Amino acid sequence: MHPWRNPTNLEAFRAEQLTKVPSWYVPLMHLGGTTSIGIIALLGIYWLENTQLWEYLAIPFLFIFANLFEWWAHKFLLHKEQKAPTWLPKIIQRTINKLFHALFHNHTPSHHRMFVYGDMAINKEKNGWNGLYFVLIPLEGIIGVVLTALPLAFGLGFLISTNVGLLTGITQSIYVVSYELLHLCYHLPVNHPIGKLKIIKKLKRHHELHHAPELMQTHNFNVTIPAADELKKTNLSESEILAFIKKYQDEDNAYYNHIIDPDA
Ligand SMILES: [Zn+2]
Ligand SMILES: [Zn+2]
Repeated sequence: MHPWRNPTNLEAFRAEQLTKVPSWYVPLMHLGGTTSIGIIALLGIYWLENTQLWEYLAIPFLFIFANLFEWWAHKFLLHKEQKAPTWLPKIIQRTINKLFHALFHNHTPSHHRMFVYGDMAINKEKNGWNGLYFVLIPLEGIIGVVLTALPLAFGLGFLISTNVGLLTGITQSIYVVSYELLHLCYHLPVNHPIGKLKIIKKLKRHHELHHAPELMQTHNFNVTIPAADELKKTNLSESEILAFIKKYQDEDNAYYNHIIDPDA
């Protein structure tokens, strides 16, 4: 059994991590803070003027770009600790390295150890909604998203048209909110009605496989629609899932059988 799966280790780790949640932490404010980006961005609609059909075409392109970016950032920033280029001034290097460290540390050794395949739910009965601290995008993630999104929105606004720039900002923000809410749905408390929706169950299965410690560095990096995973061939096929189970099933039957039937 993978050490992260060991129930004693898991509970001890969770208890220790939960002590790190600041006393001032308000889960609903965290959720409101990250989702309000989308609401604020929607205000951009008021500045759209005489939008042409071709300008709206920016939306599907941006969704594809955002899906690829989600895959790339998850694989290369959240699962590997990157370092800033050494030619940058020391102070900038230190700031970037701090951001890279926080992105990696909040995800691989924290989020992935708090929630493993077969045990993905926030324990609301025990800890209220404090588990959201380990599920929702942390401040560093939001800084990273804004730093990436703004230059693109301003760049396209300058190079193509103001409308395209505004639509870029709006689409990117809505994408981030979709990511945040879908990811939350996958980690909702057991028996939460939203978690029982067919579409959520389907998408959750994809993400839950990514939470198997043996698969997290190689497969299922999309949290929203697994389009980039499909394109980059990192989407686990049904035969790969079966082969994976065959390899580990003797160690922990209940855990690995859960992969075949998420309702088991
Ligand atoms: Zn997750
Ligand atoms: Zn991950």
